[in-house]
Amino acid sequence: MVGGIIYEPGNTKQRYKTGGWRSFRPIVDPKKCTRCKICEGFCPETAITVTDYSHVDYDFCKGCGICANVCPFKAITMVEEEK
Ligand code: SF4
Ligand code: SF4
Repeated sequence: MVGGIIYEPGNTKQRYKTGGWRSFRPIVDPKKCTRCKICEGFCPETAITVTDYSHVDYDFCKGCGICANVCPFKAITMVEEEK
């Protein structure tokens, strides 16, 4: 039996739109974002791109909240998805 082995790590973004898993959504406050890019480095789905401020691709954001936890400026708030 083979269990827990990932043969192709980091492939979810190429294959699946993981945004359908989400029950909470990150909202970025552009006034608080300093473009430090810490959230970009920690997002497991590479769903954040930092340009003029931090932008979330909701097709791939699974709502894990890591970005909100690591942001040192509290620029990201997790809000419940509407049904
Ligand atoms: S970690 Fe926070 S301040 Fe830094 S780029 Fe992301 S949202 Fe902006
Ligand atoms: S909640 Fe934040 S860290 Fe988690 S997948 Fe979405 S954008 Fe990435």
